[in-house]
Amino acid sequence: MTSAERRAALDAVAAEVAACKRCRLHEGRTNAVPGEGNADTEVVFVGEGPGFHEDRLGRPFVGQAGALLDKLLGSVCWKRDEVFIANVVKCRPPDNRDPEPEEIAACAPYLMRQLEILDPALVVTLGRFSMARFNPGAKISQVHGTSQPAHPGSGAPKAMAFFMYHPAAALRSSQVEAQCYADMKGVPEALTAARTMRAAGPPEMEAPAEPDTAADTAPVEAAEPAAEEAAQSGPTSQLGLF
Ligand code: URA
Ligand code: SF4
Repeated sequence: MTSAERRAALDAVAAEVAACKRCRLHEGRTNAVPGEGNADTEVVFVGEGPGFHEDRLGRPFVGQAGALLDKLLGSVCWKRDEVFIANVVKCRPPDNRDPEPEEIAACAPYLMRQLEILDPALVVTLGRFSMARFNPGAKISQVHGTSQPAHPGSGAPKAMAFFMYHPAAALRSSQVEAQCYADMKGVPEALTAARTMRAAGPPEMEAPAEPDTAADTAPVEAAEPAAEEAAQSGPTSQLGLF
């Protein structure tokens, strides 16, 4: 996909989200918050759901948690407009309650499509609801600050996922805040590792054919070489590493 095609595809998702009534969260929204950012990025940050200010403006992470996210990005010399920022649910849960499993399930196709379009090398999850999409069953207290291949059902099967506490939790606890800054330091390194993993191509899934039975089978098309796959993947953005 070209950059313009990615932009158009993201806009199409955003337009659907704006009109969506797939779950009851549409009832209380002022604006849906589809997510926004750089269509050519290698890194997607995924939060939980819009809060008061996000609902008002239709944009992700524009309140206090967003100000902290900007500072966290700045601490590794990254900027918001170099990445893409999305949420697990696109409409604000009333009184900022946790999103319900049915709401997360109803909204999941939108996040998955965004991830398929962006095809990021790295997904940074913010909070446990986001973590659960990419690392089901994990405990955030155990995996924060670490990365692992994103769950294939997440929509980002070629990405690494890096797990962080939610910035809103950091606003309530200076210990969590310090941990967020410490964890953030690992994000550029996780991107480097994710790039290396993608360049190496997908892991071998199939055992090679047995030499003595190969003659009996009809010829099969050669699998796409990993190098070609890597060459076809999206453009790399200008994210510095340190
Ligand atoms: N918290 C989130 O999880 N997402 C936002 O967009 C804002 C606050
Ligand atoms: Fe649709 Fe998601 Fe909003 Fe629910 S939260 S109404 S599924 S966009």
